[in-house]
Amino acid sequence: MAAEVWFDTREELADALDLGVTIRRAEAERMRTIAAWAAARTTSQRGPARVLPGQDRRVPFGGPGSPDIPEFLPAELGATLGLSAFAAQKLLSDALSLVHRLPDLLTLLEQGEVEAWKVRMVAAATRELPATVAGVIDCQLAAPARRGAPPRIVRLTRSTLQDVIDHHLLAHTDPAQTTDAHHEARARRYVAFKPGLDGTTDIAGTLSNEDAHRLEQALDDTASEMADVEGDTRSRGVRRAEALGRLVVHPGLAQTVLYLHFDRLSGTWSADDIGTIRVDEAESIVGHGTVTIKPVIDLAAEISTTGYVAPPRLREQLRLNQRNLCAFPHCDRHGTIGFDVDHVDPYDSGGTTTSSNTHLLCRYHHRVKTHGRWRATKTAPGTTVWTSPTGQVFEVAHGLTTRLRT
Ligand SMILES: [Zn+2]
Repeated sequence: MAAEVWFDTREELADALDLGVTIRRAEAERMRTIAAWAAARTTSQRGPARVLPGQDRRVPFGGPGSPDIPEFLPAELGATLGLSAFAAQKLLSDALSLVHRLPDLLTLLEQGEVEAWKVRMVAAATRELPATVAGVIDCQLAAPARRGAPPRIVRLTRSTLQDVIDHHLLAHTDPAQTTDAHHEARARRYVAFKPGLDGTTDIAGTLSNEDAHRLEQALDDTASEMADVEGDTRSRGVRRAEALGRLVVHPGLAQTVLYLHFDRLSGTWSADDIGTIRVDEAESIVGHGTVTIKPVIDLAAEISTTGYVAPPRLREQLRLNQRNLCAFPHCDRHGTIGFDVDHVDPYDSGGTTTSSNTHLLCRYHHRVKTHGRWRATKTAPGTTVWTSPTGQVFEVAHGLTTRLRT
């Protein structure tokens, strides 16, 4: 057996680690410098007593609670720093949000604990929210999930961070706080159809965020069902388009999936608290006929099959346990299609096609696992522990990565 040479990755990359911290600190300092510069320029430029159309107005770029800044200031910033107007305004807005609305996250950046793009993502996504709500999000993301753990934001990937922000956006969007701009935008909603000669029609339109969110959710749910249950291999775009068509066939109704228990002895389905139930009864309970009855998926159950190919039910259990994410440390790949079922112990060497020996990996990490000398162990449903070629150990549990050993 060839002797393996082990390197201490931390030592080898110590300079890169230190420089990463330096960059984060510098980014925090850049944010503070830009916010201070904007504040100084604002107090030195007295605004006109009455603003005429087209004149420089004052705008709270950083969101409610941040200072009003001359509207044209980003142009100056952009010209000085060599940034596009959009990039400069975004940079200024993020700086003001962080200094005035998200101080805990800015402190984390200053300490080198979190990447700049993450705190800037939070700054941008929470811009429209009241200062008090932004303050709550700031506290929650900067605090550890439990004593001794790193700050919550450190462990979140781009998509899981977006989920957390979306949750707050939905929970804290107060109709009373809705601005005139929102009312105006809602008054401009429309949907337009442009039929083509090739048998398809282009659709364009503007919906309220809530309606759009519900519509997209319904389309994604049905598109996932088509892939996972019906074995539809067409692209996600095609399935989403067809899902929209299905909504039209049953106007106003999304497909309802009822998860029921199946009793093999009596051949009957039953629902919790209801007892035995037939499809027509399920349809009358939910009030329409687009009902799919599926057995309850026990996330902890050991699903197994003798063949190599994982059955849809196992795939769905893995998908639910992994929160739609690839099982590799910090991998951001998210979705319901394009993932491979990986046998943790290879099928060729006797590994089984079971819940305890499989997980979902994106194609890239499937190749890393197969060819890259990473070792994986499934320790619980939805949980894989990885050992890197240099001996670092990571646990990925339901989409969250924790470093266990360096
Ligand atoms: Zn991956």
